[in-house]
Formats: sequence, C-alpha cells, structure tokens
Amino acid sequence: MNRYREFHRRSIEAPDEFWRDEAARIHWHTPFDTVLDRSNPPFARWFVGGRTNLCHNAIDRHLAQRAQQDALIYVSTEIGIERRYTYAEMHAEVNRMAAVMRSLGVARGERVLIYLPMIPEAAFAMLACARLGAIHSVVFGGFAAPNLAARIDDAKPALIVTADAGARGGKVIDYAPLIDEALSRAAHKTPHVLLIDRQLTPEKLNAPYLIDYEPLREQFFDAHVPCEWLESNEPSYVLYTSGTTGRPKGVQRDVGGYAVALATSMEYIFEGRPGDTMFTASDIGWVVGHSYIIYAPLIAGLTTVMYEGMPIRPDGGIWWRLVEQHRINLMFTAPTALRVLKKQDPALMKQADLSSLRTLFLAGEPLDEPTATWAAQSLGKPVVDNYWQTETGWPILAIQRGVEALPPKPGSPGVPVYGYDVTLRDEITGEPCAPGEKGVLTLAYPLPPGCMSTVWGDDARFVSTYWAKSGTNGGTNSASNGESGELVYSTFDWGVQDDNGYVTILGRTDDVINIAGHRLGTREIEEALSGHHAVAEVAVVGVTDALKGQVALAFTVLRDADRYASGDARAALEADLAATVDRQLGAIARPARVHVVAMLPKTRSGKLLRRAIAALAEGRDPGDLPTIEDPAALQQIRDALRVAQMR
Ligand code: AMP
Repeated sequence: MNRYREFHRRSIEAPDEFWRDEAARIHWHTPFDTVLDRSNPPFARWFVGGRTNLCHNAIDRHLAQRAQQDALIYVSTEIGIERRYTYAEMHAEVNRMAAVMRSLGVARGERVLIYLPMIPEAAFAMLACARLGAIHSVVFGGFAAPNLAARIDDAKPALIVTADAGARGGKVIDYAPLIDEALSRAAHKTPHVLLIDRQLTPEKLNAPYLIDYEPLREQFFDAHVPCEWLESNEPSYVLYTSGTTGRPKGVQRDVGGYAVALATSMEYIFEGRPGDTMFTASDIGWVVGHSYIIYAPLIAGLTTVMYEGMPIRPDGGIWWRLVEQHRINLMFTAPTALRVLKKQDPALMKQADLSSLRTLFLAGEPLDEPTATWAAQSLGKPVVDNYWQTETGWPILAIQRGVEALPPKPGSPGVPVYGYDVTLRDEITGEPCAPGEKGVLTLAYPLPPGCMSTVWGDDARFVSTYWAKSGTNGGTNSASNGESGELVYSTFDWGVQDDNGYVTILGRTDDVINIAGHRLGTREIEEALSGHHAVAEVAVVGVTDALKGQVALAFTVLRDADRYASGDARAALEADLAATVDRQLGAIARPARVHVVAMLPKTRSGKLLRRAIAALAEGRDPGDLPTIEDPAALQQIRDALRVAQMR
C-alpha cells in the first residue's frame, strides 16, 4: 500500500510539482508558465499559458515513429465491415475532414455538433474539430429529436455532422426524420449540415440543406490543415449529461489538462503501452467513448478498436473473437454488457484465444460481485472496476495497477486516484465521515486536470450545482455562501470508505438513475411523459434490475381516468406513454413499465416522495414518512405494483 499512498499523497500535497512532471507526457507547442491557477475558486486553470492541441498529441506526434501502425480498427457487425487506418491514414482523413469543415466556415471556438453512429468518420470529425480548435458536441446517436434540438440551441453550432442512418440489432435507423424534426424545433439556425452517406437507406437523402461529404472529401483529398495551438484552458468539447433538472448540462472540458490527465491514466490505471491494442466497447456519445475510444489510447500511441454492434450479435462470442483476431490487450466496457455475456454459452469464451488480453476494465455503473467474480475467474485476468463521471472525464476511484497492484476489494471500485482529494461527508453538516460511515462522496478544490472547467455558457450553474463550503448550512449538496469550511465538489453519489481507503459506491443522492450504464434524469423522463395529453401528474423512479442495473418505472395520474377504465384502453395508453418517451428522449429512456394510479405520494409541501416509491417498487419498507400528505397514496403504489405482477 505504501507506494500508492505516497504517490497519492504527493499528488494532493504538492500538486504543482506532481502535475508539472506529468505534463511532460504530452507535446507543448509553447510551455506553460503556471501549473495551476487557483485565483478564482471553484474554477481551476491548469497549465496556464501553455499552448497545445489534442489532435496533434493524438495523431501528428506519432507519425515519426508509428505512421504505419494501426491507429483505428473499425468493426461493424451491423453492416459487416472492418476497416483499418494507420496513423498516417488517420492523419490524412482527419486533415480532409478538417479542410472540409474549414471550407464550411468552421473556425477556432465555433461549435460543431456531431450526431453520428459508431463509424470512423465520427473519430475523424472529433479530431478534425480538435485540429481546428473548434469545440465538438457529440450527441449520442440514440437520442431523439427534441433532445437533439435542445443541444443545438444550447451549443449553437456552426455545423452539424450527421449520417444517413445508424444500425442496431440488424435494424437500420433512418436519421433523416430525426434531423429534420430537430432542425425545425431548434430556434438556432445551423448554417450547414454535413452528411456522411453510408448508403444504408434505400432512398438517397435529398433534403436541400444536406451537404454530401464524399465529393468534398475528394476535393480536399490532399489537404493539410495546420493544428491550431490552443491555450491549455480553451474549450475542447462540450458533452451533455443528465442532472436533477430536466435541462441537461453541457460539461465543458479544456485542452491541456485533459490531454495530460488522460496520458497519466493510460500509464497508471490502464497500463497501456505504445503499440498495444485497446477495445473500449462504449459509444462516442458517452464520456467513456470520448476519453477511452478516442483521445486516451491515441494520445498514448495505442491502436483503438471502434465497434458498431451488440455484444451478442451474431452471437455471444463476438467480442472474444475480436480479442483473438486483433490481439487486443486492454478491454473496457460497462458491467451491463458483462452481465449479458455471462448468460451466454461459456464455450463461446473458451473457444477464443484470449492470451493477448491483460486486463478488463469496467465502469459506468456499480459492478456487482457475482459478475466481477465470474469475469475474473473465467478470463483468468484482472478485472479493474473504476468509478468516475462525465464531469471528471477520467477515473476518480480505481486500483491503479501502474502505481501499485493493490488487491481488489469485492464491491468496491478501489481507492482514490492520484489528483483526487476524496472525502465522504455527512449530507447535512458536511463534516467528514468516520470510516464505515455512509456519506456523500466529495472532492476537495481544486479538481485535478481533465475535469470539467464549467457548464457550457453557464458559470453560475457550475458553481451552484456542484460546489459548496463544507461545514455550513446546505451540507454538501448545495452551494452555500458560508465563509468558513473547505470548498468541495459533490459527485452526488453515496459512498462508504473503509480503513484502508477503499470506497464502495452506494447509489446516487439525487434523482439520476443509471440504466445499463446510461445516465438519465428521472425528471427528463417525467417531463416527456407529462407532455402527453392524458397525463395529469407523473413520478419516475429507478428500481434495481438484475440485468440493466436499474430500470425506470413510471407512475402516472390521469386527467380523465374513466376514459381508460377498461383493460384494453389502459394497456393501449400505457404503450402509447412508453412510445412518447421513445419519441422525446429515445428508446434507452423508455420506462420498463408505466403504471396508472389515482394519486402520488407527496409531502405536505407538494414534493414527490420518489425514494418512498422506489422502496415500494423494490419491495422495501419506505420507512417513516412524517411529512406525507396522504398515506393512502402509498397503498395506491402498492396496488398498482401488485396488479402489474399478476398480469
Ligand atoms: P456518467 O456521467 O454517465 O458517466 O455517470 C456517472 C455516474 O455513474 C456516477 O456518478 C455513478 O453514479 C455511476 N458510476 C459510474 N461508474 C461507477 C462505478 N464504477 N461504480 C458505481 N457507480 C458508478
């Protein structure tokens, strides 16, 4: 434990020296003059004055030594193709894309919204933005039009890059209607929409605003676009994430701090060496995709595998075969995918030669012990859980095997990562908890490099959402104006830390739920449902699910319950309500079940008692509810659950 302890201690007590040394892992066009500027808390600026570029560090810098090494291996089991791009080829593609973007008016500081499936062009587009100093906002391809419109209006992009279609489970998902609807809903008029035509849709898209990428790519085939040397703290990207309100937050990331943090994580957490191959099975629309499909592996000179498809198509052995075929050394996915794979025929894993694989990394949601044990035993390799969030961009808790291979503790993602000053605190008083005591997982100011710089366009929201002075009213979950106490960041997760520093995560403190590793706000789902004409009131809660970790359950009060009194009418309405969520947010947010009740449990001041509803849905005692307005509402929930079970 000593090596880790000393390493972590130095990162907290002497951050300037620690990070000055680590910053040497990346290329600086102009050296920074200050490691850390803490003059305006809770904002922290890292490597002030330094000029660098994420694309240069991910691609150009490797050309001298690894031009002919694969940078990207693309596999789509959806459309049955595989493509490889060496660093040299990747460099050429990114330059073409950057030249096309530049010709469409994209310049430093402008936003580019990327709404693409998992295709190589998504990586080219992100890196092209980085090259130009433009700010990318990647929107998950599974999100529906209203979601997309909200993100267009928030980021006001100069360009949208999209495709004709995505593909999932063998079904082609036409993007045109989504884009059409999003553009007409958005108040911001995006000047250009660039189309990557995969030719998956039978009819050629011919909306007048669409610009076909292919002819432009040809036109700029030999283009060379120099990297913009950005000040370390200029924004590199915005990535939206769910919170307690219905309005997602744009997490804004810097350039230099992010590059340095990711480079260190490849050494100390992922142990990825230049020339290794890493397969991160996530989506570029999520933070894991940004950090560990695109930037980190490339910055560290690895080959990254980008996969479009499902873990069990054509069969449950596909990922293991990819490991064998591409000699994959590092694999990273979410526990949900493993729970799916665990149910497959064990022979599918045994048939593959997994000797290249060194470590399996898991993140995004709690890792249950049976799944962890199964994975470690059947693979015979270390399984490394790591805990973090969109806001931080890289792990907060993990066993840092590149520092010291501490023994894993079942149910815990490990110990605080260097740079993160982690304290579990009492929710109300903000005082630090004793070992073994449950508290809110907080991080002391300043956050290490790579973490969010602010909420896009809304510094006040960044401060009020995440930061508080400990030991003053408001505990750790809301900002307060107290003068005393330490400035702390709330992760909005409950946790408990043992005597050895291992932290176990015990769920969210807010109304955010995690479905199959996808983070969703219950408020967003509630807002989608309350837009339906039949709905008067609605409560959405997350409940434990053996496969997906959590699923959403909705409880609705109808405007005109009599109209839906018959079984058929009720069933049709429930299906229609679920479809409403699909349309507004996308299928990932669809509640597992929509229940109809006569009233919802609320406090006398009118606040929904979501935790009590969730407890009932999980068969737990909701506890004492002294503030409840009408206890009969609890019986309503119980009855609805019982009826549903009988069906
Ligand atoms: P996201 O911002 O979508 O990555 O979601 C972050 C949230 O997912 C965290 O705040 C946690 O609630 C949860 N989470 C992520 N990784 C883990 C993990 N390894 N163990 C437990 N919960 C996790």
